[in-house]
Amino acid sequence: MSNKLDLSIIIPVYNEEENILELYEKLCCVLSVLDKRYEIIFVDDGSTDNTFETIKSIQDSNIRILRFQRNYGKAAALSCGFKKSRGEYVITMDGDLQDDPKEIPRFLEKLKEFDMVSGWKVKRQDPLSKTLPSKCFNKLTRFITGVKINDFNCGYKGYRKEVVKNINLYGEFHRYIPALAHWRGYTVGEIEVEHHPRIHGKSKYGAERLLKGCLDLMTVTFLMLYKKRPLHVFGGIGLVLGFSGIVISIYLFSLWVTGTGIGDRPLLMLGILLTVIGAQFISLGLIGELITNSRNNDDYIIKFDSYELENGR
Ligand code: UDP
Ligand code: MG
Repeated sequence: MSNKLDLSIIIPVYNEEENILELYEKLCCVLSVLDKRYEIIFVDDGSTDNTFETIKSIQDSNIRILRFQRNYGKAAALSCGFKKSRGEYVITMDGDLQDDPKEIPRFLEKLKEFDMVSGWKVKRQDPLSKTLPSKCFNKLTRFITGVKINDFNCGYKGYRKEVVKNINLYGEFHRYIPALAHWRGYTVGEIEVEHHPRIHGKSKYGAERLLKGCLDLMTVTFLMLYKKRPLHVFGGIGLVLGFSGIVISIYLFSLWVTGTGIGDRPLLMLGILLTVIGAQFISLGLIGELITNSRNNDDYIIKFDSYELENGR
């Protein structure tokens, strides 16, 4: 049997036991009329419910399961699925029935035109506490990265094989795949997709995602702009700060020479101190991120790998 397939559907799942079977049935309805050789890759991201057992109970040779030792996060799950996938085209979707399998043919159609296609949840069926920050975040990301799409958050996406094999994901980076792909020279398109409310199970993300998202956005920005010459950005900041420091010192020195005491300006000193320390921390963090991003970040442990079982047969 050739290892080559037309299509891989990658679905990261974390405690989605009630959604698996219905999702599988819906997928089958769509895929059975597509006339394509496909695989459905469920990446069980360390579920603690019966997600794994439920997937395993499905008797279908088109299904592959990758199970993590613990919960590593959606980006790791996608990254693992990307590495293992064998399809010429790859679709990623959430496993909570919020993404509708009926959109798959539309993704494939659009992929004739673009290297990757991102879904746009025009009417997002989530609470305002999620949709509002997401809107701001999307606008900011669009502005900073220059990628002209409306919805970076959507997990429903389609890719040509070469894109997924050349993207390095970690942290919360799954939300920046369009930016990373664009940066690598791939074309990025967008289609509107229907979004359903979550019926079973709970959303896995809370407020901390926003904070992480902001920090990751900084990394992406610096990566896109300065990866080749980090010194130009850190050196630039250093020069500006250093120069300001010298100017302030000269000013304080002149006050001291003319007999004005400078001991009564604790706030000024604190301001300078904090600025310098803050800048140092940001720079250090960014250097760390740049190093992290340029090495292989796959630190997940796979507990069960149906690909290995197949090969061992
Ligand atoms: N997910 C995952 N690992 C995690 C968190 C989520 O694999 O650590 C999966 C989850 O099971 C779902 C998808 O990622 O299939 C999207 O998660 P969720 O519905 O919680 O996100 P939201 O739609 O609320 O943004
Ligand atoms: Mg969801």
